[in-house]
Amino acid sequence: AADLDRAESLIRSIPDFPQPGVTFRDIMPLLADARALRDCVRAMIAPFEGTFDVVAGVEARGFLLAGAAAMLADVGLIPLRKAGKLPKPAAAESYDLEYGTATIEATEEVRPGLRVLLMDDVLATGGTLAAADRLVRALGGEVVGTTALMELTALGGRAHVPEAHVLFRV
Ligand code: IMP
Repeated sequence: AADLDRAESLIRSIPDFPQPGVTFRDIMPLLADARALRDCVRAMIAPFEGTFDVVAGVEARGFLLAGAAAMLADVGLIPLRKAGKLPKPAAAESYDLEYGTATIEATEEVRPGLRVLLMDDVLATGGTLAAADRLVRALGGEVVGTTALMELTALGGRAHVPEAHVLFRV
């Protein structure tokens, strides 16, 4: 659709960040544009309308999209945080990075039976969203869907989150 084409044009590509040879997809111009932000968040949640009780966003850019989505959908918001930030985590999940591992944590607000829509900005290797899925399910939550703005298809992350809804692919 024209509105999403317009939003996609606001994603900036930064060569050689954070390392030589890597192209970083920077969504800050998209977030800064009222129409693009609204159009994207609407499209991210549209397939799941009425099926979720909360949105869960992954630190840090996932928080921004999830906050906007929660207001649009009139549901609550659960931040999934990097390890060590929450004073009282109820569960943790680790996943592999290119070098080492990372861990994300959630609070007890992820209750058994809660219907959760997972959100993040970029699906790259898929490790983050797959860990988010395990984290929510470890606390008894039901993951009704996974949604990201953009998928970096060359990294093959879809294998880890086959059902993910994404707006843009590069
Ligand atoms: P994954 O776990 O490899 O799928 O990486 C996804 C995480 O890394 C997301 O939380 C993204 O915010 C971040 N990420 C990876 N590549 C990019 C990028 O090009 N732009 C913005 N964020 C990225």
